[in-house]
Amino acid sequence: SKEAGKGTYTFYNNAMGEAVLKKISIQNDLHKAIETNEFMLYYQPIIDLQTGHLSGLEALIRWQHPVKGLIAPDKFIGIAEESGKMIEIGTWVIKNACHFLRELYELGYRDFHISVNVSAIQLLQNNFAALVCDVLTTENLPPDYLMLEITESVLIESFDQIISTLLEIRQTGVKIALDDFGCGYSSLTYLRQLPIDVLKIDKTFVSDILQVNSKDRIIGSIIMLAKQMGLRVIAEGVERPEQITYLKQYSCDAIQGYLISKPVSKEDITKFWAHNIFP
Ligand code: C2E
Ligand code: CA
Ligand code: CA
Ligand code: CA
Repeated sequence: SKEAGKGTYTFYNNAMGEAVLKKISIQNDLHKAIETNEFMLYYQPIIDLQTGHLSGLEALIRWQHPVKGLIAPDKFIGIAEESGKMIEIGTWVIKNACHFLRELYELGYRDFHISVNVSAIQLLQNNFAALVCDVLTTENLPPDYLMLEITESVLIESFDQIISTLLEIRQTGVKIALDDFGCGYSSLTYLRQLPIDVLKIDKTFVSDILQVNSKDRIIGSIIMLAKQMGLRVIAEGVERPEQITYLKQYSCDAIQGYLISKPVSKEDITKFWAHNIFP
């Protein structure tokens, strides 16, 4: 009845906090954003410490909102995951990153990889490995040009299923990186069980290098341990030259951070190359 409807409205109106309303608004806008092509990928260079050459490009999603402007992924990825939009968005990311990779490949830019962040929800979707394979086939790319970045949070649930999906993907030649290492549920026991190729050390450990009296500067030990396990190590969030000196001492393989470049548009990536900024 009319009365009940009105009552319900008042109830929600009072009970919903502003944060909830904001979240619903983002949820609604997210749905439109896929249709109207408001997402774009920025790319951040990863540099090999030994050669100084470009080792990879990490694809990072941005949302160009028609009213709110540029929205960072931290503001909407979580909501996309909760509201069932992450598979669609994640698939868009993989397809677009691989398409850009193909464009670069054709221009003659080779010998580097593209890193794509993937959510647990994507890894748990049916035939995720087949989807990745399809995209690589469509773009006619060597599988080892693609790296998927996962975080430890994917391991909380469905550990066995995630591991078998990772094994399947890795068998095709695609590389797997463990992202944000050290800030989550990291345990060395897990690390040994994971089918990964690369360890990305979180920026909190990298910024710790600059602390003079840091008691817990364990980044050196993490690098040594990872290398003993045969993993390639990438340090994230490198902002100062002093950090490079330290990372080189411990034979860290590659670095990524504002010191080299912020994430930039794909037009800027090709411009960098045209001007020979990437060796
Ligand atoms: P992440 O994967 O750890 O990406 C690195 C983040 O650190 C990026 O933030 C990057 O801009 C920032 N960063 C890079 N260098 C520096 C530095 O020197 N100093 C500092 N302070 N920050 C630096 P961004 O682009 O805002 O992305 C945030 C997070 O959103 C990512 O963290 C990732 O977890 C998630 N994300 C981004 N794109 C995607 C995507 O396509 N799919 C999924 N599932 N998650 C994504
Ligand atoms: Ca990442
Ligand atoms: Ca990271
Ligand atoms: Ca992160």
